[in-house]
Amino acid sequence: MKIAMMAQNANLYSHQRLKEAAEARGHELDIIKTLRCYMNIASRRPEIYYNGEKLPHYDAVIPRIGASVTFYGLAVLRQFEMQGVYPLNESVAIGRSRDKLRSMQLMARDGIGLPVTTFAHDPRQTEEVLKLNGGAPTVIKLLEGTQGIGVVLADTDRSAKSVIEAFRGANVNIMVQEFIKEAGGTDIRALVVGGKVIAAMKRTGAEGEFRSNLHRGGSAQTIKISPEERSTAIRAAKAMGLNVCGVDMLRANHGPVVMEVNSSPGLEGVEKATGIDVAGKIIEFIEKTAKPGKTRTVGK
Ligand code: ADP
Ligand code: GLU
Repeated sequence: MKIAMMAQNANLYSHQRLKEAAEARGHELDIIKTLRCYMNIASRRPEIYYNGEKLPHYDAVIPRIGASVTFYGLAVLRQFEMQGVYPLNESVAIGRSRDKLRSMQLMARDGIGLPVTTFAHDPRQTEEVLKLNGGAPTVIKLLEGTQGIGVVLADTDRSAKSVIEAFRGANVNIMVQEFIKEAGGTDIRALVVGGKVIAAMKRTGAEGEFRSNLHRGGSAQTIKISPEERSTAIRAAKAMGLNVCGVDMLRANHGPVVMEVNSSPGLEGVEKATGIDVAGKIIEFIEKTAKPGKTRTVGK
């Protein structure tokens, strides 16, 4: 097969691994820098240009669209979809995953366990929001945050109120969430590929840190997840419409709760922690499912 991978940085571990895995299985994989693509969107033919030339036809495209280039990246991906190129994850599903609030609404509708989460615009509702959430301790999150930046734990209602007011003053969107204390600074990342959990790891925050992100000094270890956690991850992927994703869950007293679904999960942490060839399994999934014209959204 001829596979395109949209990625800004060809040298990232995940991107190198996907390229190696594709080549090892006899495919050709071109890394296309997302922001270097340009296109005539008003043309009847949905072509994509790159470095002065029209891109050739690909059988499949692996979108690795960084959060900061979501808008442009999704436009390029839709152009591939309109050509009938099979997208590993569809543009519509990636778009959903980039909006935490929308993602949670979709998962809630499917009855997937989530932390109690409230969202409000008017600062006059702050006290009501905190009450609805069950009171302190409270987690306050920037809607557009990644890598744990913009996630704050407030121990008292008073500090929660000032954090909320500070974020509001900065004119950013936030979610207010119950603090799952029993998770103990540990979360679970389950990698779902084609409706199956193919690898799972546990991430534990650095000493004294409630955030378990690897970027915040957390460490990863392989873990055996429970059948309930497995089915929660699979259902979350399905609710989002993602073929490949990382589902982040917390172990709450009342069962697993999903915090986030990542449509471009990093492979380094999970491959190193589990020893599983995640990149190979992703390529294998593409082999099984990529058929010309198979995309359902075709960028609509
Ligand atoms: P980001 O998308 O920036 O990584 P997350 O929502 O995943 O933000 O939160 C970062 C980390 O903070 C999580 O991995 C988890 O360890 C911790 N965390 C987030 N929300 C909660 C919560 N409601 N209760 C307990 N810990 C949480
Ligand atoms: N980009 C990484 C991922 O989503 C972040 C990992 C982390 O900081 O925990 O897989």
